[in-house]
Amino acid sequence: MRVQFTLRCTECNSENYQHSKNKKTHPDRMEVKKYCPVCKKTTVHKEKK
Ligand SMILES: [Zn+2]
Repeated sequence: MRVQFTLRCTECNSENYQHSKNKKTHPDRMEVKKYCPVCKKTTVHKEKK
């Protein structure tokens, strides 16, 4: 039940991280605070699509 997805920076829209999750435990779109190398700071990354 694991799905792969891409985490995208909400400020510059660059796709910085590959992630996987369990669809049962996280059925919704994930929002994670991660370091963005483009923004050079920690930003909110959202699950793509
Ligand atoms: Zn960014």
